[in-house]
Amino acid sequence: MKILFVVGHSKSSPGYYSPILKVSEYIYASEVAAYLSCVGEVYKHPDTRGYTARMEKLAEYANPRKYDLIIELHFNGYDNKDNGKGVGCETVHYPGSSSIEYGKKLCEAVSKKYEVKNRGAKEAKKGDRGLLFLDMLEAPCLIFEPFFGDESEALKFEDHKKLAKVITKALCD
Ligand SMILES: [Zn+2]
Repeated sequence: MKILFVVGHSKSSPGYYSPILKVSEYIYASEVAAYLSCVGEVYKHPDTRGYTARMEKLAEYANPRKYDLIIELHFNGYDNKDNGKGVGCETVHYPGSSSIEYGKKLCEAVSKKYEVKNRGAKEAKKGDRGLLFLDMLEAPCLIFEPFFGDESEALKFEDHKKLAKVITKALCD
C-alpha cells in the first residue's frame, strides 16, 4: 500500500499549541512523521500563505502520484462542541470515502493502546475545517486527531515513536 503522511499545518502557521506537551501541532506531527518514513512518504506543507494555496500545492504533488491512502497528522485543541471538555481520538474522512475503514482501525488502535475515548471515524461536514484537504485529493484521505492537546490525556502521547508504531501497526496489520 502506497501511503503519504502529511504533516498538518506549516512552519509559520503551526496550528494549535498544546499547553500540556508544550508543542505545536506542526512540530509534534513532524516528530511523529519522522518515524513513519519507513512505511510511507512524508510531506510537509511549504510556507505558502493561506490554507487553500497550501492544499492546491499538496493536490498538485499528490494526485499524480496515486497514493492508496493519505493521512494528515494533527492533534485536537479545545472542543467547542463540548464546552472545551472534549477528549479522545478521532479521524475525519470525506463523505463516502473508503478511508473510513482505516479511520476505524486507527481510532480503535489508539483508544486501546492509550486508554482514551474512541470518538470514531467521522464524516466531514460542510464548513468543517479540513474539508478542502479531503475534497481536493483524489486518494482516500484521513485527518488524524489522536488526542486533545489541552487535556491531560496529551501526556500519554509524549513519545512520538510509540504513536508512530501504533499507527504503523493499525495500517499494516
Ligand atoms: Zn490541526
